[in-house]
Amino acid sequence: MSSKPANKTSKEIVLVGLGVSPGIIIGPAYIRERGTIDISEHTINVEDIVQEQTRLTTAVDRARRQMSRLRRKARNMPATAADELGFLVNAYEQMLRDSRLIRGAANRIKNGQMNAEAAVQAEISDIAAAFAAMDDAYIANRIDDIREVGRRLILNLTRTPVKPFAAVPPGSIIITDELTPADTAQMNPERIIGVAAELGGAEGHTAIMLRALGMPGVLGVTSMLRYVSHGDTLLIDGTVGRIVINPDAATLKTATHQQDEYRKQADRLVCMRDLPATTRDGTEVELWANVELPIEMTMARESGAVGVGLLRTEFLFMNRDTVPSEDEQYDQLREIVKAANGPVTIRTVDVGGDKSSEALHKNMDAKATSALGLRGIRLSLLQPKILETQLCAILRAACHGEVRILLPMVTSVWEVHRARGHLKKSIAKLKRRKVALPHKIPPMGCMIEVPAAALAADALAQVSDFFAIGSNDLTMYTLAIDRGNEYVANLFDPLHPAVLRLIQFSAESARRMGIPVSICGEMAGDPRYTALLLGLGFRELSMSAPSIPRVKQRIRDMDLIAASRRAGLIMDQVDSGRIATLLDDFNGPA
Ligand code: PEP
Ligand code: MG
Repeated sequence: MSSKPANKTSKEIVLVGLGVSPGIIIGPAYIRERGTIDISEHTINVEDIVQEQTRLTTAVDRARRQMSRLRRKARNMPATAADELGFLVNAYEQMLRDSRLIRGAANRIKNGQMNAEAAVQAEISDIAAAFAAMDDAYIANRIDDIREVGRRLILNLTRTPVKPFAAVPPGSIIITDELTPADTAQMNPERIIGVAAELGGAEGHTAIMLRALGMPGVLGVTSMLRYVSHGDTLLIDGTVGRIVINPDAATLKTATHQQDEYRKQADRLVCMRDLPATTRDGTEVELWANVELPIEMTMARESGAVGVGLLRTEFLFMNRDTVPSEDEQYDQLREIVKAANGPVTIRTVDVGGDKSSEALHKNMDAKATSALGLRGIRLSLLQPKILETQLCAILRAACHGEVRILLPMVTSVWEVHRARGHLKKSIAKLKRRKVALPHKIPPMGCMIEVPAAALAADALAQVSDFFAIGSNDLTMYTLAIDRGNEYVANLFDPLHPAVLRLIQFSAESARRMGIPVSICGEMAGDPRYTALLLGLGFRELSMSAPSIPRVKQRIRDMDLIAASRRAGLIMDQVDSGRIATLLDDFNGPA
């Protein structure tokens, strides 16, 4: 919670960022400070004080052991990094000895009858306030270290998945420096109405999840936390990327009017649901849903999706420090398969890059899991037991409906061969255990999202049953633009001729080989690109469910022959500005 005073002047302040999830909302700000974990606070009985103190001591001991492990790890690092880490570990170990943090928390348990998690949190808040009052930049920076130690203690105390937004009052807008995909997975859209964060780009997974949840959001709002106080009234416009702190009466009136218009437009689009996605000249297109959380299945069904073109299974591995068992995965996947209107394309886990998982990344440093590190299939092939557990769960879920298996971040043909080997082994394992297998073993396809995969698409098509083109990563890796980085967000351009040529070559390779090809990056859900994608020959588009009605409307208004001609013209261009103009002219006014 913020220690900043409420904005006394209540003067309207407008800040701009990246509108990543459309919609306009008005509500109170809930400031989520970095390092703060929302935990429940309760009074303990006097007879439980000793037990609670023991819990604290055990958590401290565990944190010390974690520090020793970190120190050992530092020995294998380059000298400068080892020095820096060693210095930090020393400081943390010091704090875990007889510091004000530990003494204070123990006192709060004893004298205030507080539960241990709340005692640690309260102590951190007090120390933070004292440090802030000193007005010394060096000391202010040290508060991050204290918070980190406190966070570690709280995680050790709870040893269960932390529910970071459980205490947020209903109707709040989350204001934070950074929101990770794992955080977003824990947000309940019925409680939290919108989000603004200082960091993050429009194509990162946090942005994708906000769009899928239909939660208006603005990311990359530089220095926002300097201006917003807890409880301030906020207006978030996720369509244009604007936040207004303490909006005045005139601003509120305009926003309310825009909200009404937005709602009316959404209502008009609802009637699209039962209409076919057919062009004016009679070509049918399949619109599938991308799903990142099970709660999206209702929306996927209601939007008229004919199946799930991309189930991102990362949710199964987030916010926990143990790998989910086969049964746990099966239970969740089965429900999704049963809830779908058609086939479900289940992607094996794709952590790494901006998505981290304590369970899978244990003992790995940031370098190992970076966007160019152990992402997607690379990590799965290094941890074959985990991959086979997931494949077994997928095979079992396939007994309840049509399923396809999708491999993320494929670069080379051998990765597909190896994955097929693990699929075979998983089938054999289930047979040995006498577990029922589906009548038809699910086809295995690969994501085309790395330039190497796109350039080798003809070879990959020979070992794959289908392709799903991931334009998000394909754009990122082709243009060397981090999709989640607000500093280069304006340079992220799927219309760059290099990206379009890779997409075209991949799609043609699939068609030549006679395997299905879909596109499931964010491009597929933006009606601006629909004519180009159809013109390039795509007949399967997969997108977040809220995007389906708008894309369907665009398809129904479109003449495919004209779109194909325009796509041909676009593919002859070398300049993305010219390509954008040709596309926007074809689309007409938005
Ligand atoms: C993509 O990269 O385009 C894609 C669909 O996968 P993700 O966004 O999950 O990385
Ligand atoms: Mg991807």
